[in-house]
Amino acid sequence: MSDPPTQPFRLRPEYLSAAEMAFYHVLHELVKNHYVIAPKVPLQELFSVTRPNENVQQFSKLNRKSVDFLLLYRDSLQPAFGIELDYPQQTKAREVDEFMDGLFKSASLPFIHVTVEQTYDPQAIWRRMREAIKQAQHTDPLDRMGDYSPICPRCGITMVLRFYREGALKGQKYYGCLNFPACTAVVPVSGD
Ligand SMILES: [Zn+2]
Repeated sequence: MSDPPTQPFRLRPEYLSAAEMAFYHVLHELVKNHYVIAPKVPLQELFSVTRPNENVQQFSKLNRKSVDFLLLYRDSLQPAFGIELDYPQQTKAREVDEFMDGLFKSASLPFIHVTVEQTYDPQAIWRRMREAIKQAQHTDPLDRMGDYSPICPRCGITMVLRFYREGALKGQKYYGCLNFPACTAVVPVSGD
């Protein structure tokens, strides 16, 4: 009898990096009465893609990426808040940031980026979190207008409500694509 073939799997030496651990401890102290922290949650556990066969690109984007820290409500364990750690040296593709920002926004889940530092000011982080929660609540009723949001005519994914920030239409609402700026499709908001 020969030994069974060796599996090629090994436990990685560290699950969280030193920087992630340091931030985790600060975050835990800050939110432990409200939230449970789930580190490194794959986005595909959090979001789904409509018609994945047609939306291969979006599906693979979702597939590859995780959010650094997902806060879950302590009692229901429902997703409540996303936090992404940014490394100052790292030149992460702006496109990835915008994809994630749009993703959380479309789900009315508050989401912030925190830059890795030697020490953190918990009060400052807490203020930013409350601000993000307020903003998400603020956009929520708009996003839920009749529970309707159109599908992007080019990409086939759900669009999100946005405001024109400048120009003649400044302040007016429109539906924009989650893939902006790669996709600039716009659907007007009717019955406003
Ligand atoms: Zn599109």
